[in-house]
Amino acid sequence: MLADYHTHCLPWSPDAECSMEELVLGGIDAGLTHMCITNHIENCCQSPVYDDQFPPLEDWDGLFVDFSRVREKLGGRIDLRLGCEVGSPHYLPEEGRRIYSRPIFDFTIGSIHNLRGQRDFYFLTYPEDPEDMRGQIEEYLDEYILLVNEGLCDVLGHIGYMQRYMARQGKGFKMADYSDRLRALFRRAIERGIGIEVNCSGLSDALGQFIPEPEVLRLYRQMGGEIITCGTDAHRAQSVGAGIWESYELLRSLGYKYVCLYKEHRPEFVRL
Ligand SMILES: [Zn+2]
Ligand SMILES: [Zn+2]
Repeated sequence: MLADYHTHCLPWSPDAECSMEELVLGGIDAGLTHMCITNHIENCCQSPVYDDQFPPLEDWDGLFVDFSRVREKLGGRIDLRLGCEVGSPHYLPEEGRRIYSRPIFDFTIGSIHNLRGQRDFYFLTYPEDPEDMRGQIEEYLDEYILLVNEGLCDVLGHIGYMQRYMARQGKGFKMADYSDRLRALFRRAIERGIGIEVNCSGLSDALGQFIPEPEVLRLYRQMGGEIITCGTDAHRAQSVGAGIWESYELLRSLGYKYVCLYKEHRPEFVRL
């Protein structure tokens, strides 16, 4: 079993570099047995700068037609599911609920790419002293708690997203230093049956590690967290599957027994 549960393609994710069919062929080449396509839905993120924001998804039928066509063609070679990555669905909870209840999706990643009324972390210039980021990082984790309270996703995407972009500017911090908030977040997520993901994208980036970092994955496990998915966050065919084996090895070393697949928003536990 080798499953990539976080992938993007054109035209649904404007920052991707390949079509859905090319993306899935990349997954087959990488030896994946399972793959979930999780394009951006930024209908709720409320970023103040229009250029930062992907156009809202309105063409639900078009997305499902694209997926159905690719599954028809390649579904015999790989188990394909359609999911989505929704930015801050709790900022506009009515819209978040509308997205979550769409029957075309088996799986929803809830991600926070920007704080309320602010730009995506991708665009920020980071301070020399990471302590100057403390308020924003605390607010970021508090937003995940609010997202969990609304229950508008299945797993929490890349906890520590800004670490990817801070590293590109030669800056960084340890998310594990925010253990009080992480404990509050994980306690609530475990109660509600919401999992987290291991995002492999940082491995091949300046960051050089998984998001969230291993210490945070250890804390989640220690607190009894079991629901976990692994995904590359690939935006091109060549990146699909990269780092998934390594993430399984890390999870095993931290005492995890299972990784999850999803159907109709319910986790299926597969032994690691
Ligand atoms: Zn994301
Ligand atoms: Zn993504």
